[in-house]
Amino acid sequence: MVELKNVCVTYESTGVEALSDFSLKVEDGEFAFVIGRSGAGKSTLIKLLLKELDANRGEVYVNGYDLVKMKKHKVPEFRRTIGVVFQDYRLIDTMTVYENIAFVLRVIDAPMKQIKKRVPYVMSLVGLQDKADCYPSELSGGEQQRCALARALVNDPALLIADEPTGNVDPELAYELVELLKGINDCGTTVLMVTHAHEMVRHFGGRIINISEGEVVFDEVIGGAEIEAQ
Ligand code: ADP
Repeated sequence: MVELKNVCVTYESTGVEALSDFSLKVEDGEFAFVIGRSGAGKSTLIKLLLKELDANRGEVYVNGYDLVKMKKHKVPEFRRTIGVVFQDYRLIDTMTVYENIAFVLRVIDAPMKQIKKRVPYVMSLVGLQDKADCYPSELSGGEQQRCALARALVNDPALLIADEPTGNVDPELAYELVELLKGINDCGTTVLMVTHAHEMVRHFGGRIINISEGEVVFDEVIGGAEIEAQ
C-alpha cells in the first residue's frame, strides 16, 4: 500500500518544488499507470517511495512503513518490500541471467535452497527459462527487460515499481511487458508503472494518475480501447 498525504519535496540546490501538497493512495493489489510530462515530478515520486529522498513536509507510508519516521537502519529492510524495474535495466554485464537474478537474494544472505527454487521460478514467469546461462549482451532488448523484471520480482515484493520500462523497446514489446505486469498484478503484487506511452495507457485503461508540475491533476479509472470497442 502506498499513501502520501500533503507531501512537499523541494530540491535545495535549485529551490524547485518537485512535489507540492501531493496526496495519493494506492491500495494493495492495485495496478496504476503514472503519467506526466518530463519534469512533472514522476522520478521524484519514485525516489520518495524508495526513500532515496525525504519529504520536506507531509506523510509517506509504503507497505506498512512510515517513511518519515523511519530510522536509517530500517531502510534496507523496507526496500526489500519493493521491486524496481529501472529504465536502463541496470543488469550486471559480467553475470548471466541466472546470476543477475540470484544476486539479489545472495546479498541478503538468502538460503541456497530458496535461491535454487525462486530463481528458476521467476525466470519461467517472464519466459527466460532457456536463457539462464546467457549474458545480458547476448539478450535482445525485450529479454533484457524481462530479466530486469525477474530480478525485481525474485524477492516477492509487495509493490513493484516499473520506471518507464517501455522506453527502450518496440511498441509491440511494450504491450507484452504490460501484459506481463498485469499477470503479476493478478497474483497480488501492487504495480505502479511510470510511463510516457500515453497511447498504450489508453489502450489498456485502468487507473491512471497524471502528474503535472508536482501535483496530481487526474486520477481516475478509465476503460481501455478493448472495452470501448465492445
Ligand atoms: P520527471 O521524472 O517527471 O521528469 P522529476 O521528478 O525528475 O520529473 O523533476 C521534477 C522537477 O524537479 C523538475 O523541475 C526538475 O528539474 C527538478 N529536479 C529533479 N531532480 C532534481 C535535482 N536533483 N536537483 C534539483 N532539481 C531537480
